[in-house]
Amino acid sequence: VDDDEPMLALRGVVAGYGGFDILHGVNLEVRKGEIVAIVGPNGSGKSTVFKAIYGLIKIRLGEVSFEGQDVASLGPQDLLKAGIAMVPQLSTIFPSMSVYENLELGMYLVRDKALVKRRIDEILELFPRLAERRAQNAGTLSGGERRALEIGRSLMLKPRMILMDEPSVGLSPILTKNMFEQLQDLQKAAGITFLVIEQNARSALEISDRGYVIQRGVVSHTGTGRALLGDDEVRRSFLGG
Ligand code: ADP
Ligand code: MG
Repeated sequence: VDDDEPMLALRGVVAGYGGFDILHGVNLEVRKGEIVAIVGPNGSGKSTVFKAIYGLIKIRLGEVSFEGQDVASLGPQDLLKAGIAMVPQLSTIFPSMSVYENLELGMYLVRDKALVKRRIDEILELFPRLAERRAQNAGTLSGGERRALEIGRSLMLKPRMILMDEPSVGLSPILTKNMFEQLQDLQKAAGITFLVIEQNARSALEISDRGYVIQRGVVSHTGTGRALLGDDEVRRSFLGG
C-alpha cells in the first residue's frame, strides 16, 4: 500500500437497519500506524459505523476499502483473514474457560496446535498479568485483565488493524489509562493500527493521533486529537467545557 493511501477508508457510507438509515454519508480514514478515535453522543451511530465496516450490516450507498481493496461485501470471517480484527462492545470472554483456552479461541480455525501455542506464548509476553494467570478461569479476572485478554485474543491472527468498541466500559479511570497505554505500546511495538470508539472522549483524544466526532449519523468534526481537544465547540458539547 502507498503510504499516502489510507489503510481504511469509508466514503459516503449510508447504512442502517431494516431500511431505516442511521448513517447518512460517513467519510472516515485511518492511516497505517495511527490510533484514531471515534467519539460522539450515545445513539449517534458509532457502533453502526463498525458494523458497516465489519460486514455485520449491509451498506446501502458508499464505499469501504481496506489496503486499497473494496471490502464492502466481505463478512467478519473474511475481514479477519484480510487483517482487521474487531473487539465488540460486549465482552466475548468465556468465564468458565481458562485464560489460555480463551486465547486459543482466537485461532480456533488453525489446526496446528504447536503454532497456536507459540502464538499464545508471544501474546502472553505482551501481557505479563495474563501470563501469570494463564491457567486461571477467565471469570476470576478483573475488568482490566479481561479487556487485556480480549485484546490479546484479537491479536492471535496477527491483524494489522484492530477496531475496538468502547474498550474502557466498566474500567476505573486508572485502568482506562493503563488500557490506553497498552494500545500505544502495541502501536509502537507491533505496528498495530487502531480505530477506537470511546465514550470517554477526553482520554481517548489525548492518546489518539486523530479523531472523528459523529453526530446523528454524520461526521461533525475531525482533526488531530490535540486539535479536537482544543476546539471550543467540541469541548462545550462533548468534553464538559
Ligand atoms: P452509538 O454506538 O453511537 O451509541 P449505535 O450505532 O449503536 O449508536 O446506534 C445508532 C442508532 O441505531 C440508535 O438510534 C439505535 O437505536 C439504532 N440501532 C442500533 N442497533 C440497531 C438494531 N440492531 N436495529 C435497529 N436499530 C438499531
Ligand atoms: Mg455503541
